[in-house]
Order: sequence, then structure tokens, then C-alpha cells
Amino acid sequence: MSCFDVIVVGGGGSGLATAVSAAEQGVRVCVLEKQAAPGGTTGIAVGSFTSNRTRFQKEAGITDKLEDHVIDAGRFAPPDIEQHNNAALRRFFLNHSAEALHWLAGMGIRFQGPNPEPPNRQPRMHNAVPGAKAYIDTLVRRLQELGGSLVCGADVTELLMESGHVNGVCWKDTEGRVHRAGSRLGVVLAAGDYANAPDLIARFKGNDFQCIEGINPHASGDGHVLAEKAGARLLNMGVTYGPEIRFVPPADGTFQDRLPTTGWMAQWVGWLSNRLPKRWMQPFIKRLVVTWQHPEDALFDAGAILVNQNGERFTDERRSPQREIDIARQPNKQAYILLDESLIERFSAWPHFISTAPEIAYAYVKDYLHLRPDLAFEADQLHALADKRGLPAENLEKTVRQLNLDRPKDASAALKPLSGNRWVLLGPAKAWFTTTEGGAAINESFEVLDASGAALPGLYAVGQNGLGGQILWGHGLHIGWAMTSGYLLGRQFGGMRR
Ligand SMILES: Cc1cc2nc3c(=O)[nH]c(=O)nc-3n(C[C@H](O)[C@H](O)[C@H](O)COP(=O)(O)OP(=O)(O)OC[C@H]3O[C@@H](n4cnc5c(N)ncnc54)[C@H](O)[C@@H]3O)c2cc1C
Repeated sequence: MSCFDVIVVGGGGSGLATAVSAAEQGVRVCVLEKQAAPGGTTGIAVGSFTSNRTRFQKEAGITDKLEDHVIDAGRFAPPDIEQHNNAALRRFFLNHSAEALHWLAGMGIRFQGPNPEPPNRQPRMHNAVPGAKAYIDTLVRRLQELGGSLVCGADVTELLMESGHVNGVCWKDTEGRVHRAGSRLGVVLAAGDYANAPDLIARFKGNDFQCIEGINPHASGDGHVLAEKAGARLLNMGVTYGPEIRFVPPADGTFQDRLPTTGWMAQWVGWLSNRLPKRWMQPFIKRLVVTWQHPEDALFDAGAILVNQNGERFTDERRSPQREIDIARQPNKQAYILLDESLIERFSAWPHFISTAPEIAYAYVKDYLHLRPDLAFEADQLHALADKRGLPAENLEKTVRQLNLDRPKDASAALKPLSGNRWVLLGPAKAWFTTTEGGAAINESFEVLDASGAALPGLYAVGQNGLGGQILWGHGLHIGWAMTSGYLLGRQFGGMRR
């Protein structure tokens, strides 16, 4: 059996941050990653890291306060969600997040911003350039420089215990062979969330949500199951980010995927991103906004409808999350958004946008037609539109005829019949969980806790696996926590080794 100081379960953002931070302290660390390559949800994320009192804020002349961020972070989630927050742990995180951000910047990651995101009272959102993959590529390179081990295709299936102390793991390789690895200081659960684990979703959120997938198809909740089997208390397991409607990404990869993440080119792109005038940056940022952001509810409030690939309407578009559940029950779990002439006009100018990264960029109908020709189609007649998209034209026409009979024609009615000589179909769109917000209970030393609040010796958790009851709504706090928890825990192992 191979033996290390620390074994990290999961080579996503939090796992790699833990490993690098520990290896910098001379700790012998091994990361076991289930997939063929590291990355996890972090590797497909946008890359925002929201933090306070950073040197980038200071350089931009922004004076920020921890206590202000503590209050603002509680203003994103609705009260019924926010009431579940572990206030002490979230404050602890926000107090240390800038250290982690500076540590990453010191490794060569470039950040664009800080950008505003209301209700944050100060610009706090720092975006890794060109995207979150920069975290993964940079951390992997640094781990290799430091001599840490990273084994891919290693599916951790069991925690090893001796006298109630976690001291290793069992893992399976891609051929099904079983291996054991021992840990002297601890095993770190960094296996991400359970957005694509129907069993956990059904158990904690309800059977109706089981049909909804996670954006990351590999977000399987293994770390939560391992923690629970070891006796951990799991917190906030019914809280999820989403389900949300999002357009499917381009088949040939996103614009972001094509940009360099390390090396001089990445440094140059990063340098440029903070110097180019905002209007020059807009076209680039809009590409992100039309790739990952979800269509605003305002579209449906104004009368846009959802149809499936048979051209049929199947839900009440203004009833979320039922409409997301209904989308996931359609053929291929897909839907299309139909806009008539007046909706096209309305969603062509501020303040009526289709999707946004608030206060950074807004995307309108013409942006979708221009930047996402794979999912935005326009025609002057309904049947021509259906033909272009490969939907049965008769069905789509019948759907609109029926809708117009149902919607009152008087001018005062909230929703008007659909009509005119311009039609746009946007899609396919799917309903997805972005992340799940449940995690193992932990203390400020990242030790996993049981139902009585006692630490399970030798077991630690970080990132989404170790959320500890925090509510991290808004953009940039999930990556912030993944990196901050990993960074701090790695430092802590350094102290334990000496
Ligand atoms: C489209 C999208 C955009 C996002 N954008 C942002 C953003 O801009 N800012 C932000 O703050 N948050 C964002 N998020 C959320 C954020 O990216 C994640 O919450 C965060 O990166 C999770 O990091 P993690 O280390 O906890 O998990 P992950 O990065 O998912 O890493 C977990 C790793 O563990 C591995 N693993 C799982 N089970 C096992 C096992 N049994 N054995 C071994 N390995 C295992 C997985 O394969 C994975 O590599 C976004 C999410 C999505 C889906």
C-alpha cells in the first residue's frame, strides 16, 4: 500500500488548491481524480472569484470592508434560503478569501476586474482570464513542479479507518483494479457537488427533481456519500443553485475554451483585459453571456412561450420550478423559446435583455442571432422558422393558433397573442442544476463533524463537498470558497507536519 501525508479525493478546484498549498509546505500529497483529466465543475465554470479588501480593489481606488461584504453576501439568496446560512463560517471564509486570491495571482493567474455585482456595494468580482480553466491548468502545473502526485482515472470508493480514525482510501482504476493508499495526516474530501446524482436529488429535494440533470454530468456526490458513511452530518442538502433554464453550449466548444490559460499569451490576454476600453471588451464578454448565462424570466413575463421539439407547448412558462421540471420531461429534455415580432423588438434594447452578467454585459436578440447561430433562428413566417429549426411546422402553427385563442385580445391583458412578420426561436435550452449547496458539516479547521458536532479524526472536507452549511449565492463565492478552503487547509497540514 502506498502511503502519503495527505490524500485528496478529487482533482477539481478545491482539491488541487489543497494539494498545491500543502505541497508548498513540504507535505507529501496525492490527488486521486475519478475522471480521465482534472478539472471538475471548476474546469467548466466562468471563473469569477468574489472577494473583499484585495490588492486589485486597492489598485482601482476601492476601499472595502470585511463587515460590508459579510452583510452584502447575505443579500443575494431569498430569505427562506439565507436563513439556513452558517454565518460564522461564511464570515471566516470572507475574511480569508483575499489571501487565497493573492496566492493564486502570485502563481500567474491573471484577473480582470474587480467588477460590480449588486447588491454588493463595492466591485468585488475578480474574473480569472480567460476563464476558470486557468485555475486548473495553473494549479496542476504548480503541483507537478512541487513533486505532488495526481492520479487520474482513480475512483475513490471507500474510506479506510482504524480505531475510528480515517487513515486512507480504497480506489478503483479504469480497469476495475482495487488499490489502497494510506494517509498519515488526513484524507480530504474535495469531490465537488451532487448536481447530477438523481438518487441524492430525489432523497433530499424530492422525486420531481430527479429528472433534472447537473450541468456537470460528473457531479455525482461521491464525496457526500463517503462523508455520510463515515458518520458526517450533512447540511442544507435540499438547497440547490437552480434548476435554471440555460441554452446548450456550442457543440464545437465555447469561445473561452479556445483562449490560452497559462504562459505568456494568457498573461498578455489578462493584462489587456484590464486596459482595453470597456466598449472594446464588450464583444468578448458578450460571447460568455450568450454561452453560459440563463435567459431572463422577463422573457416569459412578457409573453414568450416554450415549445418542445414537436412544436408543442407543454408548461406554464411563468411557474418556476415546475416549468424546469416540465422541460426535463420533454423529448431529449429540451425546449425552445418562441418570440414574435413585438417580443423581438422589446428584447432588442436596454432594459429588456435576454441574458446578462449584471453591469458587465447584456445580450439582446441580435446578439444571439449574431453570436449563437447554432441556436438562434429567425424567419418572417412561423412555418419557415419551424422548417429552419427542424420542428414540425404544422404543430408550431397549431400551438400558436391555440395560444392566441386562449390569450385575450384586449390591449389591457397582461399577455398578448403572438403575431407579426418576424419570429425568432432560441434553443435548444435545458433545465439544469448549476450546483448543489449541501455539504458536510465542518469547523474552521475543515474537520468533518458528526451529528454531535465532534470531529471525525483524519477526515477533512473543502469546496462544495465541505460547504459546512454556508449559503454562497451570487457569483464568485463558490470558486472563492473552493480556493480559500483548499489554500487554508494546505497551510494547516504544513503546520501539522512540523
Ligand atoms: C457553468 C458553471 C459556471 C460556474 N461559474 C462559476 C463562477 O464563475 N464563479 C463561481 O464562484 N462559481 C461558479 N460555478 C460554481 C463553481 O464552479 C463550483 O461550485 C466550484 O468550482 C466547485 O469546486 P470543487 O472543487 O468543490 O468541485 P469540482 O471542481 O467539481 O471538483 C470535484 C472533483 O472531484 C472529482 N471526484 C468526484 N468523485 C470522485 C471520486 N469518487 N474519486 C475521485 N475523484 C472524484 C470530480 O471528478 C471533480 O474533478 C459555476 C458552475 C457552473 C456549472
